[in-house]
Amino acid sequence: MADLEAFKTDFRGDIITPSDPGYEDAIFRWSRNGIRRAQIVTFPKDETGVAQAIAYSRQVGLPLAIRGGGHSASGASSTDGLVVDLSKYFDRVRIDPNKKLAYVGGGTLWGAVEKAAIQHGLATVGGTVNHTGCGGLIVGGGYGWLSGKYGLAIDNLVQATVVTANGSTITANSAENSDLFWGIRGGGCNFGIVTEFVLKLYPQRRTVYAGFVIFSPEKLETLATAVQSWWLNGPTENEAMMFVQAASQFGQPPAVILNLFYNGSEEEGRKNYKTLLDIGPIADMSKEIPFEKLNEVQNHLAVHGRNNYEKGTYHSPNFDLPGRAARTYELVKRFHEMGKFETFIACELFPMGKVNSVPNDATAFRRGRRTNVITNLTWDDDEPGKYALAKESASQLIATMGDVNPAEAVGYGNYSSDALPAQGTIAEDRSRILFDSNYPRLQELKRKYDPDMVFNKWFVVTPAAG
Ligand SMILES: Cc1cc2nc3c(=O)[nH]c(=O)nc-3n(C[C@H](O)[C@H](O)[C@H](O)COP(=O)(O)OP(=O)(O)OC[C@H]3O[C@@H](n4cnc5c(N)ncnc54)[C@H](O)[C@@H]3O)c2cc1C
Repeated sequence: MADLEAFKTDFRGDIITPSDPGYEDAIFRWSRNGIRRAQIVTFPKDETGVAQAIAYSRQVGLPLAIRGGGHSASGASSTDGLVVDLSKYFDRVRIDPNKKLAYVGGGTLWGAVEKAAIQHGLATVGGTVNHTGCGGLIVGGGYGWLSGKYGLAIDNLVQATVVTANGSTITANSAENSDLFWGIRGGGCNFGIVTEFVLKLYPQRRTVYAGFVIFSPEKLETLATAVQSWWLNGPTENEAMMFVQAASQFGQPPAVILNLFYNGSEEEGRKNYKTLLDIGPIADMSKEIPFEKLNEVQNHLAVHGRNNYEKGTYHSPNFDLPGRAARTYELVKRFHEMGKFETFIACELFPMGKVNSVPNDATAFRRGRRTNVITNLTWDDDEPGKYALAKESASQLIATMGDVNPAEAVGYGNYSSDALPAQGTIAEDRSRILFDSNYPRLQELKRKYDPDMVFNKWFVVTPAAG
């Protein structure tokens, strides 16, 4: 490549190419099928380095990807071109306890933010698996256990530093460059590389009640009825749960699990969830734990380096959960007997009142949705056709769950393995569904900040004409 040596000499940061030691680590991602064999992986030290990497990729015509925490199952943080990897020099957190703000580098993982903030008795909305990256999770919206109280991660973003396609470093907040600030709150990586997020923090008690409670499949319908009634009665902002209708692991029959959260003591939590706990679990691991352990509870189910197909769907809140859950369980059992995948299907029941109290056009994120269901199929081998089979199996599971409005056929963007279009194509139809009425405004922004579509991963926005 003509100018690579000159670029390497000038670049503020580190560069890894395929012949260098550490290359396989540099392209590694949480999901093995999200890995692409990049020609160049850059680790910029500062915003100037980020701008240099963008300029070089444009100069030599290499496609560009941004890596935050590397958890996109769609491969949105990978490319066979040039990667701007923030995980080395933008992995940093500073807490200002007086202003109750966290200054978070664009390549930081949630665990670091939680640990730093809780030392001051503070917390914010972050992902429920603490090795997930802040970068992708925030720019795509961001749900977490505290969403019932504080909304999405983007609802707590007060400022961002963004390096745009022309290499400018821009401060975006509600007063400065507010159009860009609007776009990066839900619009993904379409407008630039966020090197720093400034997040609101809130007083948080040091311990919470949380953990897995496992039920026998015979109790599934009773449990689903009780869960639905809890959900429809309107949980308080201190409550949230994941209702795992079926989670299969190789060698074990599918399990039915409640992953409970109560922002209070164990005594308060058990009292709050008494109706559900009285159904009689076969194992109860829920207990009072330090807040910083909350988002470790699921880590063992979300290990790095496996193949994944993942999809989020929104379902109407009063759909027939008991009937659907039973049929979904049977289907997971059938998949399990085929021995091809581990399968996980869960309703993420974070109270949505706070999220949906923000007007739909206040940020780029599409609001108004209720029951968020995540379906995930995992496998370890590289058998040809397995991805297509996983996708087809997920579709069957989602159809069994039912009640997906076709206008919402693209669910939560950050849970979509389908985010990334096939090489060289732009699946604009999916972006239009994801962003809904906010899409035209996003197109205007794209024309302003990235008319040449340098940032063309995840749900790609095409620039407005003219
Ligand atoms: C195990 C697991 C648990 C999860 N739990 C949750 C959860 O509780 N709540 C939730 O809302 N989501 C959750 N997710 C989904 C998660 O939000 C997405 O996978 C998200 O993309 C992760 O961000 P990342 O930085 O690790 O991803 P990456 O793969 O690094 O990036 C994903 C996308 O974000 C862009 N991006 C990353 N960093 C930046 C940046 N600094 N500036 C601009 N663009 C950037 C990338 O370009 C890419 O398009 C989970 C995912 C996994 C795998």
